[in-house]
Amino acid sequence: MNKQELVENIYTCASCGYCRFGCPVFSEIGFERFTARGRMLIFKRILEGKFPYTEDVFRSIYMCSQCANCEEICPTGINFIEIIDALKIDLAREGKLPESQKAMREIVREKSNPFGEAREERGAWLPKDYQVKESEALYFVGCAASYSLNRTSRSVMKILEKVKFDFTTLGNLEYCCGEPLFRMGEIGLGNELVEKNSLEFERLGVKTIFASCPGCLKNLKHKYPPEFRVLHTVQLFSELIKEGRVEFGKELNQRVIYHDGCDIGRHVGIYEEPREILQSIPGVELLEFDYNREEAICCGGPLVSQDPGIAKKIASRRVEEAVEKGADVIVTTCPTCFVNFKDGAKLVEGKVDIQEISQLLLKLLKK
Ligand code: SF4
Ligand code: SF4
Repeated sequence: MNKQELVENIYTCASCGYCRFGCPVFSEIGFERFTARGRMLIFKRILEGKFPYTEDVFRSIYMCSQCANCEEICPTGINFIEIIDALKIDLAREGKLPESQKAMREIVREKSNPFGEAREERGAWLPKDYQVKESEALYFVGCAASYSLNRTSRSVMKILEKVKFDFTTLGNLEYCCGEPLFRMGEIGLGNELVEKNSLEFERLGVKTIFASCPGCLKNLKHKYPPEFRVLHTVQLFSELIKEGRVEFGKELNQRVIYHDGCDIGRHVGIYEEPREILQSIPGVELLEFDYNREEAICCGGPLVSQDPGIAKKIASRRVEEAVEKGADVIVTTCPTCFVNFKDGAKLVEGKVDIQEISQLLLKLLKK
């Protein structure tokens, strides 16, 4: 978005306030400056030179989960995410980043992951004798499933081995997809990672890339060269189930509610495949949140690095609703949602299990 489009978009806001409804941050904090409307008003005053970039303005910009619920609701069709992205790019260019973001930028720059883990440990979850190989299909594991949540990557691998699906991973050669850098406006550094990963994809002859992390998926789809076909693992699993290549060995006699994460949902448009997988599991009764698919409400996960307390409270609202609906388990396709739901569930009295879809699927397959 160029400067002219940015200004036009900001002044398109009619201040109707409809966007307050689905904003997870506003619903928790309750101040107008955390709605899209409030932010538009601040941006207008900044453009008019009536207001400087203060700490409060920073907080208002960075305490947005970029869930895009406001875009879905907005009657004037504001491109809110593009506005926030453009402002962050400007701020990053001027070196104006919150301290937490500066620290994260340096960690990703140095280690190629946001956790500060050693690069040579990235593929440590893989079997000892694993060899990266040339293949048309590549599993892009991502930072979370490489380091902290490798039960997901192991599950994906075991499921695909069971159905004899041929693919490779990059092991230690994989870099962060760049999402944390793009999210903070550091596009130059983000693009360096895009280039490094893309060179590896080309070297191995990759045509299709599948990711289990919706953040990686969004980035691979929107920031990487368009010649690669990019899928989420749920799309691949759903295809394999339809082809009859996946056999269940157990029933799951539970009421399951699926949470549409914002990256896999509104940002990429995948809604039905996770539901198709869950409905194909014998014994499952699938429930829905009141607001689902395009209207789903964010779990607050992207705010963990800014304000873990607020992120956890936002997640607890979704968990509360799941409990009220009588769900036994909340299923998510996203590592960020998974971790934040686990935290949020600690604030809720009722009992509900939280499951990541690949891990759940593996447990139910025929041995
Ligand atoms: S993107 Fe989400 S968190 Fe940000 S203002 Fe819109 S609704 Fe609120
Ligand atoms: S819904 Fe759209 S037009 Fe209305 S206040 Fe929010 S951003 Fe502005």
